[in-house]
Amino acid sequence: MSILLNGAGVSKGIAIGEAYVYSREQNEISEHKVSKDQQKNEIQRFKKALTKASEQLHEIKQKIAADTPADILAFIDTHLLMLEDPAFNEGTISNIKEYSCNAEWGLQIQSNRFVQVFNEMEDPYLRTRKDDVLHVVRRIQNCLAENPEHVPDGAQLKGRIIIADDLTPADTLMLQHHKIAGFVTEFGGPLSHTAILSKNLGIPAIVGVHHARQLLRTGETLIVDGLHGMVISQPDKSSLKQYREIKKKALARTNLLNKLKNVPAITLDGAAITLHGNIDRPEDIRILKKYDDTGVGLYRTEMMFLEKNSFPNEEMQFKTYKRALFRLKGQLLTIRTMDLGADKELEETLEQGPMAHNPALGLRAIRRCLKEPDDFLPQLRAILRVAALGPVRMMIPMLTNVEEIQQVFNLIETAKLQLKQRKTRFDQNLQIGAMIEVPAAALSASAFARQLDFLSIGTNDLIQYTLALDRIDDEVSYLYNPLNPAVLQLISITINAGKEAGVPVSLCGEMASDPLYTRLLLGMGLDYFSVQANALLEIKHIINNSKLASLHTQVQKILKASSIHEIESLVEQLNH
Ligand code: PEP
Ligand code: MG
Repeated sequence: MSILLNGAGVSKGIAIGEAYVYSREQNEISEHKVSKDQQKNEIQRFKKALTKASEQLHEIKQKIAADTPADILAFIDTHLLMLEDPAFNEGTISNIKEYSCNAEWGLQIQSNRFVQVFNEMEDPYLRTRKDDVLHVVRRIQNCLAENPEHVPDGAQLKGRIIIADDLTPADTLMLQHHKIAGFVTEFGGPLSHTAILSKNLGIPAIVGVHHARQLLRTGETLIVDGLHGMVISQPDKSSLKQYREIKKKALARTNLLNKLKNVPAITLDGAAITLHGNIDRPEDIRILKKYDDTGVGLYRTEMMFLEKNSFPNEEMQFKTYKRALFRLKGQLLTIRTMDLGADKELEETLEQGPMAHNPALGLRAIRRCLKEPDDFLPQLRAILRVAALGPVRMMIPMLTNVEEIQQVFNLIETAKLQLKQRKTRFDQNLQIGAMIEVPAAALSASAFARQLDFLSIGTNDLIQYTLALDRIDDEVSYLYNPLNPAVLQLISITINAGKEAGVPVSLCGEMASDPLYTRLLLGMGLDYFSVQANALLEIKHIINNSKLASLHTQVQKILKASSIHEIESLVEQLNH
């Protein structure tokens, strides 16, 4: 009989194959009191287990190294670094001494402490880092128990769908090396490193499928639908046929889009369109390059601040930006200065006092940078320095008036002076641009364009602020619509202001990554899109199959329409 199980689809795509249930012994961890003399013994055991765990990870790295890019191997390096982290290993040793307990229990106490710290983190990405702690702890506990990891041999795994309790990034890499078709785990979340890795590797995967190991059997046929988070065991003939068909079509679509890699984005009537990617960290450039050898239209630097939960110093920022620039190999890097505040707040700041009543309308992004220049200047200096090494632009988020632009210019001059005094090299002519995210900025776009080198429309916020709705509040998400005529007017005003002033205008909000809006934006005169890496080829496909001249005429009609319904149906016609 066919059964259907649900979980969180973390890597889209469909896998069809035989199940392989990967069962591993769980070590029972219990506390044993040990004498002072035995403590030394336990500490020795723990140190030996650390060495063994590290050897295992190095061995895995070596096995897969030949065909694995450095960024992917870095997932294993994270675990290796944890093994060396004093907070982790010296903490465990102190526990063994303080509680006079066995090594397993000392490690368990330390693991619980780490997990609690991660559990209390606001940011869901950082919260999920506790999975890495649990993975490392499990490996050491196995070494302490002298449990040899039962690793199935490669021939057993090829083309199979792996069912496991949880997989570490190292497990995932080994399994991919053995050419598995997909995997399903009982635990783990969509933001775990394993989930991110499966997406990077293109392995269809579903996590959080409870009791999967009890409900599924080795050898039975499975369908893994990564898009919808569904596992179907022993599917009937018609489901199999249907999924094979979907898989075939998806493959054909992927092959078609892959042919567009490194092909210029050009409309049927010859207009060249710039198509760049959005990144959160330098490592994301590897994924972007998988789709296109192109530049970056939005680098959200605050992610580094949030991950470190502090303000990294100038040197650390300079090194990080340099890494991004070198990975781009001569392509443009647009660095956005930190957009902290609202839903992106440092723990450190939260601890200093209660949040503002309306944080999205409060001291966010450039407002907070202007209020705390000592936090901002190191970033300005780091960007000025990296710009001397290659094509870099600096972009300022959430500006609302030209006075703020002047204040930014003054601070940039201060940063330049500081670098000059230090005799440090920097780019004297760094290009400065503004994000247009607030209606006031869109309505002042002409004045902005006269003072700046470029503009970039951030529709995620522009929609939130134009329609007076919190972009993270589900209750009002029904109002969130890029096709609201007021939003379209503000986008159009900005594009036209840029054209009149001869200043480039891009759009880097999510709207640019949605194929539904590509033709509309082209028709409005947009010629620079900055998109999510995985949407890039789809957007290029639409651009390369559109005729700009006819879009302009149709879009004029859309811009005159006053109801969202009418606009939606006109956009549908445009896309047909
Ligand atoms: C935007 O607001 O559209 C944007 C790109 O910035 P963020 O999503 O980081 O606020
Ligand atoms: Mg924004």
